[in-house]
Amino acid sequence: MQATRPHPILVARSTLTQRLQLENPTMSRFAQRRDKIRRMLAKQGVEALLVTNFTNVSYLTGFTGDDSYLLVAADQDYLISDQRYTTQLGEECPDLELSIRGPSQQMLPFVSKLLSQVKISTLGVEARSMTIAFYVDLREALKNCELVPARGLVEKLRMIKDKDEIARTRVACDQARRAFEVVRASLTPEMTELQVAADLEYQARRFGGIGMSFPPIVAVGARAALPHASPTTQQIGAADFTLIDWGVNEGLYVSDLTRILVTGKISPKLRKVYGVVLKAQLAAIKAIRPGVICEAVDRVARGIISKAGYGKRFGHGLGHGTGLDIHEAPRLSQGQTTVLAPGMIVTVEPGIYLPGWGGVRIEDDILVTRNGHEVLTSVPKQLEECLVG
Ligand code: ZN
Ligand code: ZN
Repeated sequence: MQATRPHPILVARSTLTQRLQLENPTMSRFAQRRDKIRRMLAKQGVEALLVTNFTNVSYLTGFTGDDSYLLVAADQDYLISDQRYTTQLGEECPDLELSIRGPSQQMLPFVSKLLSQVKISTLGVEARSMTIAFYVDLREALKNCELVPARGLVEKLRMIKDKDEIARTRVACDQARRAFEVVRASLTPEMTELQVAADLEYQARRFGGIGMSFPPIVAVGARAALPHASPTTQQIGAADFTLIDWGVNEGLYVSDLTRILVTGKISPKLRKVYGVVLKAQLAAIKAIRPGVICEAVDRVARGIISKAGYGKRFGHGLGHGTGLDIHEAPRLSQGQTTVLAPGMIVTVEPGIYLPGWGGVRIEDDILVTRNGHEVLTSVPKQLEECLVG
């Protein structure tokens, strides 16, 4: 783009068209989400928001590429991207005004120029994703614009899933179940943790996922005492049980589960520890319904584990929201005062970790419904059902 020509974003759709779209009940759910952000900004007296978290950009536009920002302004939104994505943007978000950088244009001067031409005097910036370097440079470039750090604005919207998001999460849960069933059926004592992790990923893709939600945890015996163990060349047959924590990304939305597979015998200790974790998990799931405070759900599970004498061995929060990210709001842990509401999806994953022996964690994905909850994941979890071979 040449300096003398108007910035491409200023060749904008007319305000009338924009207004018609806002009044149109059939406007895309992405436009509706941007509208909600606009209202949140107006309440805070901020004119626009520069969305720099790529996941938030996807949530607000439907665009699945990277390296793109979104400006949500009072009467127009601008998706700031580059020429690699022109075709994809046309397909994924045809209703959006595009502002496309050329190969020689750096993001900062391009964004600064756009912002100065849109004439914004207070700009919200995403404090959790914008780097300090970008913030300092932007402040330098926009002398007449106040930058207001915004925290968790889009993340707050993302907590409540709509029908489409719930449907996609169901798909991700189902793909995780199917991948696990195939891997479980083909498990042999000679297989290594790494091979099991690779098989899970292969099966996840065969069932239509674009990959795992995160690198799977496959931890044999004592290694399961590490809540976030990375797979190694340890063989499955080296201990009586293996912990597997995995999830599938169906394309945008993710699932997250943990199961124990017993490949040897069920020792009295495993039976006891597993029983406590399962009891804590079932009780916590039962407590999930609208109006309950997040930390109260954590307390239910923690109380049962503490009463059994393992309180100090449950060293992490009970669960977390899932969605476009594997870890998102709300968190089910101590000090979290968010109130559960219909449409939230959270994991419930209590664990007991005993160094030198191993660990047990059981994790499922739970949808908060209007009347209570629904467990979205359906992999069997009674101890006898975890026996392999
Ligand atoms: Zn997990
Ligand atoms: Zn999890």
